Amino acid sequence: MEFDVVIGLEVHVELKTESKMYCSCKNEFGGVANSHCCEICLGMPGTLPNINKKAIEYAIKAGLAFNCQINTTTKLDRKNYFYPDLPKSYQISQSEQPLCVGGFIEILLENGTKSKRINLVQIHVEEDSGKTIYGDADGKTYIDFNRSGVPLIEIVSKPDLCDATEVKTYLETIKNTVLWLGISDCKMQEGSMRADINISLKPKGAIKLGTRCEIKNVGSINGAARAVECEIKRQKEILESGRKVEQVTLKYSDEANENIVARRKDEVVEYRYFVEPDLPAIEISNEEIEALKLSIGELPNAKISRLMDEYELPYTDAYLLMEEREKGRFFEETAKISNVEPKKVANWILGDISRILNKQSAPLSSSKLTAQNFKKMLEMIENNSISNTAGKTIIETLMEQDIDPELVAKQKGLLQTSDLKLLEDVAREALAENKQISELFEKGKTNVLGFAVGDCMKRLKGKGNPVLLKDIVLKLLEEGKSRNEKN
Ligand SMILES: [Zn+2]
Repeated sequence: MEFDVVIGLEVHVELKTESKMYCSCKNEFGGVANSHCCEICLGMPGTLPNINKKAIEYAIKAGLAFNCQINTTTKLDRKNYFYPDLPKSYQISQSEQPLCVGGFIEILLENGTKSKRINLVQIHVEEDSGKTIYGDADGKTYIDFNRSGVPLIEIVSKPDLCDATEVKTYLETIKNTVLWLGISDCKMQEGSMRADINISLKPKGAIKLGTRCEIKNVGSINGAARAVECEIKRQKEILESGRKVEQVTLKYSDEANENIVARRKDEVVEYRYFVEPDLPAIEISNEEIEALKLSIGELPNAKISRLMDEYELPYTDAYLLMEEREKGRFFEETAKISNVEPKKVANWILGDISRILNKQSAPLSSSKLTAQNFKKMLEMIENNSISNTAGKTIIETLMEQDIDPELVAKQKGLLQTSDLKLLEDVAREALAENKQISELFEKGKTNVLGFAVGDCMKRLKGKGNPVLLKDIVLKLLEEGKSRNEKN
């Protein structure tokens, strides 16, 4: 039996503000347990929360990047539930009037040749809870409130995704965009980006949706893809055996690579949302929204597509140049001023230059390489003044000092000679010492040409201009041939 898979995601992203969402405590991962807390984030009676303006700004940036409508008046709501790591017994979140509504995320599939629009319901702000730590050694449970009140955005999608690849690409797009905006560090291993995944299956083409199950709090992008695959398989087996899928909340176990039932339907929590009485509605002016819009610039997927179109780069090159912003900028700066094929410029940046930087564990910005020198070196290779191999030596020097590559080539004796007299003398000498070449050439074995050029190169210690040499050797061989024919 064939099924349609329907997937919707709720993605939590911690915002990298200096302080927490409703108090001035430090917003920082780790630290001595319970050292970044105060009476507000611990929910002491009589305290009043204060809104972190920066967090709202960051959330608006995310909303704009993901094409949402920004509500100029937005309200905060209490989401009530009991859990030991939630000292207030409620989270200040948003329900009725979230900050960002609608919108969509465009994901690139099949190496950037296809795109798909994943529609969003909303993006709202909320605060994180504390962290429950299960002590393995003593069997006790500990709570660290350092994370209580850390600002979050929750990105809620419509059920527009339909397989593990799309889920993976969707999460990667969110991560790339959020990193690009500089609003989160997106360290999934530290829990700063987490996904809840809702999945249901229905017979192919059916309108009515099947029963959905939710996989809670998946902490890695690859983990999310694996969890989705497991869940599709699990639900498919249930449906194929004629049973019904039970609505459950699952927890994905990376070690077991399976989804474990954490909660059944009858235990579903009712959050009793109501407007937060301690905080006023937030008013945002159109001017503020416009200013934030201007600060965003070109987004990752748009950049990938543009690099592919404008410079005819393959997807992987465009992706890498997007991911490493400085390299992408340097690529464009060089490609714009040089006549060399852009793919070759990208190859050098992603190849030799990256290799040298990796060896030094240094960023491109710390090297002395300028687009002008780099361009000149590429053009010297192109017009055969230096070989590609010589370029690999010269680039190392260019990364250490701002120096003319031609000067480096001269100093290191890497210039290829274009002295026609010298090249011809060497070619004559080579052909005279190896008569077999001419004989074979006359018999129509033209592939000896390459061998003869190689021989001349050896005599010139690799410094002959191979294009000129090839012309000269060919000319000499043909002259010899016609001379012999006349005789
Ligand atoms: Zn605090």
